[in-house]
Amino acid sequence: MGFKFCTITSGSSGNCIYVGTPKVNILVDAGISGIKAQRGLEKIDVNPASIDGIFITHEHIDHIKGVGILTRRFDIPLFATKKTWEAMDEMEKVLGKISSNNRIIIEKDKDFILEDLVIHPYAIPHDASDPVGYTFVHNNKKISLATDLGHVNDKIKDNIRESSLILLESNHDIDMLINGSYPYYLKRRILGDYGHLCNEAAGKILVEVFHDKLETVVLGHLSKENNYPKLAYNSVKSTLIDAGIELEGKVELTVAGRDELSKLFRL
Ligand SMILES: [Zn+2]
Ligand SMILES: [Zn+2]
Repeated sequence: MGFKFCTITSGSSGNCIYVGTPKVNILVDAGISGIKAQRGLEKIDVNPASIDGIFITHEHIDHIKGVGILTRRFDIPLFATKKTWEAMDEMEKVLGKISSNNRIIIEKDKDFILEDLVIHPYAIPHDASDPVGYTFVHNNKKISLATDLGHVNDKIKDNIRESSLILLESNHDIDMLINGSYPYYLKRRILGDYGHLCNEAAGKILVEVFHDKLETVVLGHLSKENNYPKLAYNSVKSTLIDAGIELEGKVELTVAGRDELSKLFRL
């Protein structure tokens, strides 16, 4: 039970995810203020100074808002692809100065090992410079993070197969989005191939990657305007039931809070 996972926040107003093993503590993104990330970690008894790295998915503000503060305050290395670094360097106003020691370049489809944790960045279709999702393996268990997906292709499915825990985007309900107050261009962006994943699509993907050893599904990155937790949960659950998949007693399906911590999952 040494593999730990917690969403500190998840949603279009800020994403910050914790993954831990007996030897390593990391964050994926910190799209919230430094102090909020710090308090979130303290709630799960993780000393922010013990964070070994922040793995960045892409340069959108809901993913990197606090990374500059955190790297300076606690001397935490930041990991991102080369093109994501280039995009972040153009946002110095937001991020501030980042010391060269803490700028680490990772490559897609190439494992990165930190002590007892294997980190695997993979390409995702989203409207950023070079966005990635991550899978993490420790002690034969796998955690997959798959949010900010305009659509899902076979490569993504292959990456997230065999997971014990999946954090999967369930961003919006299509009807709420279409009938909602967002301007036309924004609706198009979200619905587009490089936007965000709807509840229905999340359910369909789960049906495809479902397997006997899946323990936990966390739906995340919910839109504030175009979704609500109960709707995302019911939509995904009914897609699974329609496909003949029973969750009861086997798989925990839950929705990550936009603003409050999930429980600390242990695998
Ligand atoms: Zn984004
Ligand atoms: Zn996002």
